Amino acid sequence: MRYNVTLMSDKKQLKSDLSDEVTRRKLAETELGQVQEIFRLLVDAVTDYAIFALDKEGRILTWNPGAQRLKGYTANEIIGKHFSTFYTKPDIERKHPQWELETAIENGKYEEEGWRVRKDGTQFWANVVINKLLDQNGRFIGFSKITRDLTDRMRAQQKLQESEERSRLMIQGVRDYAIFMLDPQGMVATWNEGAERIKQYSSEEIIGKSMKTFYSEEDLKAKKPEMELEVATAVGRFEDEGWRVRKDGTRFWANVIITAVRNSSGKLMGFSKITRDLTERKNAEEKLKELNDGLEKKVQDRTQELETAVKSRDEFLSLASHELKTPLTTLKLQNQLRRKTLEKQGIAPFTQEKLNKIIVDDERQVDRLTRLVDDMLDITRLNVGKLSLRKEACNLTDLTKDVIDRFMSQFEATKTEVTFEADDAIGNWDPHRIDQVVTNLITNALKYGPGKPLQIRIRNHSNKTLLEVQDHGKGIDPKDHDRIFQQFERAIHANEVSGLGLGLFIVKQIILAHGGKIWVESSLGEGSNFKVELPL
Ligand code: ADP
Repeated sequence: MRYNVTLMSDKKQLKSDLSDEVTRRKLAETELGQVQEIFRLLVDAVTDYAIFALDKEGRILTWNPGAQRLKGYTANEIIGKHFSTFYTKPDIERKHPQWELETAIENGKYEEEGWRVRKDGTQFWANVVINKLLDQNGRFIGFSKITRDLTDRMRAQQKLQESEERSRLMIQGVRDYAIFMLDPQGMVATWNEGAERIKQYSSEEIIGKSMKTFYSEEDLKAKKPEMELEVATAVGRFEDEGWRVRKDGTRFWANVIITAVRNSSGKLMGFSKITRDLTERKNAEEKLKELNDGLEKKVQDRTQELETAVKSRDEFLSLASHELKTPLTTLKLQNQLRRKTLEKQGIAPFTQEKLNKIIVDDERQVDRLTRLVDDMLDITRLNVGKLSLRKEACNLTDLTKDVIDRFMSQFEATKTEVTFEADDAIGNWDPHRIDQVVTNLITNALKYGPGKPLQIRIRNHSNKTLLEVQDHGKGIDPKDHDRIFQQFERAIHANEVSGLGLGLFIVKQIILAHGGKIWVESSLGEGSNFKVELPL
């Protein structure tokens, strides 16, 4: 503060100096008063801390709203009382409040955390700071005491500790998994019951030892443990299945998961390692694999045997068919010869007719036998995938007409009425094979519906032609419609109508080889309509 002083006489000067001193003191007093007031207001504004002063013996001198809130006493109730009022019985008995003050006198300050008692008898966890107070001349005049209620923080900490303890106990008690911690260098830091059971080391034996202890010589040479920690550090996690070694040197098949453990600022604190013993599963898998391999070998052997058997059968069929064809050709020629001889010789018409009937019958039997032999040959060809087509421009209508003509005597003999309606259908097909198809379908119509009307139709639809051979014979149960096109499959008993079940199979293969399709529309007793579609 600055004062303007003007020049005056000495007396005046002295008087003036005196009055200045008084003013200064008054001002200083006023300032001190103001500061004390500000300080009081400040302390009174604090509600989260109990701030109060004690005299040299520990009696309470001042009291702020924070103290009232924390401890429950008003200033009137507590000022003048000893501060040990706030202590628990055991603390008072062991003279702890006195000891605190003594320590503060000795060291200038005392700080602790502990239980304190409110007016209503409830307790709170307090952080307490006691400072020794000295006046301007360094004389000891008492203490300041600041108390904070840390009950919530303490309880949260307690809860955290309890939960950590529970987790620790839980992990400790897990017997099926080895769960333990490694430090950043891969040294074992914790150990649980499962780890002891699986790896056979007690915690005393293994804590502080390297994780390498559990690896085989080969894995150690290949630096597998180091690699695993490197991967876990880099990407956070490493998982593996492999052989690990127990204390007694035996191996077990382990599933291992290593996870890097980092603190909140990202610093690597170590690794958690979870190991499962999967030896039993591994052994079971290996047994299963052995069994499967054995089974596969058996199937292979069996397939080989079957293939050999089928090959032998086809070879036999092929050989037998060829062998049968020679006498059949001879028989056919002989029949022709017999017919010519019959015509030349002047035999009585009655006998001639009888003989002719025998020859026709013979010819029919030879034809039937020839077809069977041809079917057998076709089957052996189809089984080795040797059905080759000789395609050329072919007129289905003409071809069908020829086949019908060939059957004329049989139609007459069985009194079968035939109708034929046709578009002119020309395509690039194998005429010999298509003839075989038409012959087969008409043969079946006669075989399974002799004497019943037979309709044959050929209709063209855009770039396809549809051949239909419709009889009014026995018909076929719809459940057999697919089956009858398979090898050796029949929908009728051999005692009723004889046959091998090969004709439709061969027909279907021929049609498929031409890029066409075949199916039947029929039901039992209603006759059958076999439909063949061919590309034009
Ligand atoms: P197969 O006539 O020698 O038995 P197919 O392969 O020609 O051999 O015929 C298979 C089966 O289909 C026959 O056994 C018969 O049950 C049935 N089938 C074929 N065509 C007809 C038809 N037109 N009417 C009734 N059933 C037929």
